[in-house]
Parts: sequence; structure tokens; C-alpha cells
Amino acid sequence: MTDFTDIPVNLARIRARIAEAALRANRPAEAVTLVAVSKTNPVEAVAAALAAGQTIFGENRVQEAAGKFPQLRADWPALRLHIIGGLQTNKAREAVRLADVIESLDRPKLAAAIAEAIVKEGRAPKLLVQVNTGDEPQKAGVPRAEAEDFLRACRDSWNLPIHGLMCIPPAEEDPRPHFLHLAELAARHALPVLSMGMSADFEAAIACGATHVRVGSAVFGARG
Ligand SMILES: *Cc1c(COP(=O)(O)O)cnc(C)c1O
Repeated sequence: MTDFTDIPVNLARIRARIAEAALRANRPAEAVTLVAVSKTNPVEAVAAALAAGQTIFGENRVQEAAGKFPQLRADWPALRLHIIGGLQTNKAREAVRLADVIESLDRPKLAAAIAEAIVKEGRAPKLLVQVNTGDEPQKAGVPRAEAEDFLRACRDSWNLPIHGLMCIPPAEEDPRPHFLHLAELAARHALPVLSMGMSADFEAAIACGATHVRVGSAVFGARG
């Protein structure tokens, strides 16, 4: 794992690369938000990033986020948490309690559970629909062909406002066609948020219109 002293340096480098990629795409640097993916990294690593001005974090697992973030929020009111991992229905309520954004809404049962949790908690995180753009069987996300019907169902059946889309392209493929597909889908549904791009491909994602990039290892170091 990276020494915590590397984290501010890594963050500055990533921010510079984001700004350059945005500029190349004729987009303002502020059009792209960095979500620092802190999964598997300890609270001290998140605190080091906060001290370096990073306020938005992504976590895969609700349990891990519940263990790390409540104590940090008390000290850093600007902190924002995105849940970005596949979400079990029985974790929906805790996710709604903890998260500012849930990026991994991908099926009717989860939509129903989140809708119910929002009522019970009196708190509504922003919601992104995760699309399995490569239709990979092992991957979370609504299948590509079902995405539009699912977006409509979120609105009409569960009264859930959807703010955007998220995808994780297949590891072995050129991610660009996947990013472009997601961008077209978002444009067609007038969704303002496009969460795409990770450590290896965030510049390509920015070229394709990403508004949020989720960068983990390039900020915090390789995961053990
Ligand atoms: C782990 C993870 C990331 C960050 O991946 P890196 O390659 O470490 O940047 C982004 N998005 C999701 C959904 C992840 O699970």
C-alpha cells in the first residue's frame, strides 16, 4: 500500500490529468468531478485525502463504508460518500442512510427496496443506474437492452428520480464504445450525471463525456 504521504501527491497528479483531459475535450475542468475510491483503504488514508482537499469518496461495500465514514463526517462536514458497488437488497436501507449518491441501482427489487428505505429514513441519496454495457454475466448492472425500460420503471413505478448512469466496461476491451453508448443513453434521457472511467481509463472517459470519474488505485496505491 502507498504511504499516506503519497496521497496528496497522487491527488494533485490526478487532478492535473483530469484538467488536461477536459481541456483536450473542450470541456472546463470543473465539468469533471473526482470520486476517490477508498475501498480497502483505512480511515487514515481517507483522512489524508480529506486534508489534501478531496471531499468525494466512493466505497463498494456498505458494511465497510459504515465502519469508516460516520466518524469522518463528524470532522469533515463537506464529505460526500458514493456507494459504487453491487448492492444487496437487504443493505438498501443502510446505503440510503449512509450515502449521498448510490451509483449502482440496477434492478427492480433494489429500486423497490431503495424507494421504501427513502420513506423510512426520510433521506434521499441521488441515484444513478448502473448499466452492464458489456452484458457480462458476472457483473452488476442492468443489461444493455433493458436499460431504457428500467429507467422508465424507476420513474413511473417507484417514483425514483434518476440523476445519471454508471458503467464499468469489460476489462479486456476498448472502453470507448461503452463510454459512448452510456453517454448517448444519458443524453436521450436528459440525465446530467455520467459516472465512468477508473484509474486505467479515466482520460478516455472524460473524452467521451464523463462528469464523474471513479479513481482508486491511482490515488491510494495498489490494493493488497
Ligand atoms: C474499485 C472500483 C473503482 C476504482 O478502480 P481503480 O482501478 O482502482 O481506479 C471504480 N469503480 C468501481 C465500481 C470500483 O469497484
